[in-house]
Amino acid sequence: MQYYSLNRQSPDVDFKEAALVGQALDKGLYFPEKIAQLPADFIQNLKQFSKEEVAYQILSPYTGNTIPADILKQIIKETISFDIPLVKVSEDIFSLELFHGPTLAFKDVGARFISRCLGYFSKETKKEMTVLVATSGDTGGAVASGFYNIEGVKVVILYPSGKVSDVQELQLTTHGKNIHALEVAGNFDDCQRMVKQAFVDEDLKNKMFLTSANSINIARWLPQQVYYAFALQQWSYEQLPVVSVPSGNFGNICAGLLLHFSGLPVKHFIAACNANDTVLRFLKTTIYQPGETISTLSNAMDVSDPSNFIRVLELFEKEGREIKKLLSSYTISDEETKSTMRAVFEKHDYILDPHGAVAFTALERYLSKNRGVKGIFLETAHPVKFRSSTEQAINAKISISDDINALLQKVKQSKKIPADYSALRNFLWNDL
Ligand SMILES: *Cc1c(COP(=O)(O)O)cnc(C)c1O
Repeated sequence: MQYYSLNRQSPDVDFKEAALVGQALDKGLYFPEKIAQLPADFIQNLKQFSKEEVAYQILSPYTGNTIPADILKQIIKETISFDIPLVKVSEDIFSLELFHGPTLAFKDVGARFISRCLGYFSKETKKEMTVLVATSGDTGGAVASGFYNIEGVKVVILYPSGKVSDVQELQLTTHGKNIHALEVAGNFDDCQRMVKQAFVDEDLKNKMFLTSANSINIARWLPQQVYYAFALQQWSYEQLPVVSVPSGNFGNICAGLLLHFSGLPVKHFIAACNANDTVLRFLKTTIYQPGETISTLSNAMDVSDPSNFIRVLELFEKEGREIKKLLSSYTISDEETKSTMRAVFEKHDYILDPHGAVAFTALERYLSKNRGVKGIFLETAHPVKFRSSTEQAINAKISISDDINALLQKVKQSKKIPADYSALRNFLWNDL
């Protein structure tokens, strides 16, 4: 499988090259030249296959000959080594719980896959590499956990001091070994700017092989397809489900759409957004106009210019399909998010996190206009990751698992630096 840049000014590359560089030189996102097609009997008999077999069937066309079959199978096994259950919440609504991984959010799937792919490529090419990543919260922990102890790869994570939750901060600062956390006296945009500057620093790039593990990397994007198939494996109704995805950068929902075009039967997709409603406005007016980013309760979705939406458009264009027939979007306010959390807790004894609550609310709204339909929403984080807002919304304490308690006992190890590129460069050059 070859990948082309959506800006079409860079040469096509294979999976390995695309995963190593992240983004094409012309700044375009990589996109697969073909949409892999799942065999009809595979879809028919989906329930008979193990999770690992399903994931291998979905992902092997995309890695092509860059990863040998036995190694890809091992990478997949390690990537999905936790439960992804479909849980009934109400008569018509089911939760696909994607938070049973090590950092309690769906980003574990993408981060575990990319880390093992890069680890394999590092071994194969005998090249050490440094992964540089800026995080506003969830990405950092998932990347730290995914890359921990991966040979040949060092990880440097920049995060804004005082702007991530305590659980998130501990998840990215307590590993040690090959994981380095830089606590930046600034905001997320500062962190991102500093990382971008490092990628255009030619001297630095001559000294070390720098790569990124952000969500536009195909090795983080593509593995997210697999759990849509796991949801269908656990679906016991004749009629097809509507799938509601809490969306920020639109990588997650784009992976679901890709798998649908590969043959996975789904009735309809919902892009559930908070107040950041650029895509909803686009679907109404066909004008794509990002505004200022608005801060909300579901802060991992506070994105006004979703980087993966261009892939969604490419997908529909390539397939010659009309976007509005398959995809709807809803914008859900913080007030509605909180009242859903409260109502679902009281009525169904189920605790939603704010991101899942946005998706639940959007799904409810769709179902109220489409009677007799049932749906699945993706619960992308465990509520304990957003403990204070969740406890406030439901007016009850949430129980803390032993793992989280152990994490809360740990001491963070971070290096404080100013929001200044020279400080980052200095660290990479001298301290790594
Ligand atoms: C990152 C994140 C999202 C948004 O996912 P995208 O792929 O960027 O649309 C939703 N929920 C949680 C909990 C997240 O961490």
